[in-house]
Amino acid sequence: MMQIKTTCCITGGGPAGITLGYLLARAGVSVVVLEKHADFLRDFRGDTIHPSTLEMMHELGLLEEFLKLPHSKVRQLSVQIGDDHLVVGHFEHLPVHCKFIALMPQWDFLNFLAENGKRFGGFDLRMRTEATDLIFDDGKVAGVRAKTAEDQIEIHADLTVACDGRHSTLRERAGFNVENLHAPMDVMWFRISRNDGDPAEVVAHIESGRMLVMLNRNDYWQCAYVIPKGTAEDVEHAGLDKFRNAVEAISFAERAVAITGQRDPIGLDVLAVAYAASGAFDKAIATEREAQLLLPEQNSTAAAAIRDRVVLFQKRLPFVDLHSAASRDK
Ligand SMILES: Cc1cc2nc3c(=O)[nH]c(=O)nc-3n(C[C@H](O)[C@H](O)[C@H](O)COP(=O)(O)OP(=O)(O)OC[C@H]3O[C@@H](n4cnc5c(N)ncnc54)[C@H](O)[C@@H]3O)c2cc1C
Repeated sequence: MMQIKTTCCITGGGPAGITLGYLLARAGVSVVVLEKHADFLRDFRGDTIHPSTLEMMHELGLLEEFLKLPHSKVRQLSVQIGDDHLVVGHFEHLPVHCKFIALMPQWDFLNFLAENGKRFGGFDLRMRTEATDLIFDDGKVAGVRAKTAEDQIEIHADLTVACDGRHSTLRERAGFNVENLHAPMDVMWFRISRNDGDPAEVVAHIESGRMLVMLNRNDYWQCAYVIPKGTAEDVEHAGLDKFRNAVEAISFAERAVAITGQRDPIGLDVLAVAYAASGAFDKAIATEREAQLLLPEQNSTAAAAIRDRVVLFQKRLPFVDLHSAASRDK
C-alpha cells in the first residue's frame, strides 16, 4: 500500500476542493487533492461564474488568462413573464472589475485552476483516486484512505478537508449530521441548438407555475425547466402532452434534430410527434420515414414504436400514448 505524508489532504475536485487546493499551494502549503473521476466533465452543472468569483480570479492575478477561455458575458438579467419582457437586474453598479456573469462550463473553470495549481510545487492533484475512509489517530482525524484502479493509498495529513460533494463519504465516516434545507424546486435539463438571431444573454421565461431558463453556451442553449420540488413523477404520470406546448415543441425539436445533424432517429421521432401534435400529420409521417431509414436493424423496439406511430399519423391521430390512442381508435 502506498503511503503519503502531506500537510493538507482535500477530498473532492469540485469548485471547493480545487479552489482550496490552489489557494493553499499558492501559500506554500503542501496539499494533496483527491478526485475520484478521471476528468472534471460534469455536464448540466455550474454554468455561471459570478462577479464575486471573477473578482477572486482578479485578486489571484488569473483573470486576464481566465477570460481568454470561451465564455459569454451576461451584463443584465431579463425575464419574460407571459408576453412582457422585464430587466430584473444588471451588474454595472457592482464594485468589482467584471460587472458581468461569465457563462462558462464548470469543467473549464476547474481545468483552468487545476492547470495553474500545478505551477506550485506543493500542489498534488490525484485524479481517479477515490477517498474511501478516514484515518483516525488517538481519536483525531489524521488523514484519508483512498483507492485507485491499481492500488490502495493512505494519505497522512495534519488537516483533512472533505469537499466530496453532497453525498460526501468522509462526512458520513466522520459522523456529521446533515441538515437538509429542501430546495423548493427540481429542474429538468435539456439542450437545444442556438440559431442566428437568438438573443445573446440568459433567457428566463416565466409563465403561471412554470419557468424556463436558457443559458447561452455559444453553439447551443443549455435549458433548465424549473418544476416544483417532487413533481417530476407527476409530470411523467400526466404525460408529455400536458407538459409540452406543441408549437414550442416543434421549434425545440427542430433544433434538437439540427444539433444532431439530422442523424439521430430518436430526435427525428420526437420531431415527428411534435408535428403530429400540432396537426401537421404529413410532415410527421415524412419525418418518421427519415427516422426509420436511420434506425439500426437491431433496434426492433424503437422500430416497432415508430411503425405504430406512422399508423397513428396516417389516421390523423397525434401520439399521446399507444394505449389511449388505441382506445380512441376503436
Ligand atoms: C444542476 C446544477 C446546476 C448548477 N448550476 C450552477 C451554476 O450555474 N453556477 C454556480 O455557481 N453553481 C451551480 N451549481 C452549484 C454548483 O455546481 C455547486 O455549488 C458546486 O459544484 C459545489 O461544489 P463542491 O466542490 O462543494 O462539490 P461538487 O461540485 O459536488 O464536487 C465534489 C467533487 O468530489 C468528487 N468526489 C465525490 N466523492 C469523492 C470521493 N469519495 N473521493 C474523491 N472524490 C470524490 C466528485 O467527483 C466531485 O468532483 C449547480 C448545481 C447543479 C446540481
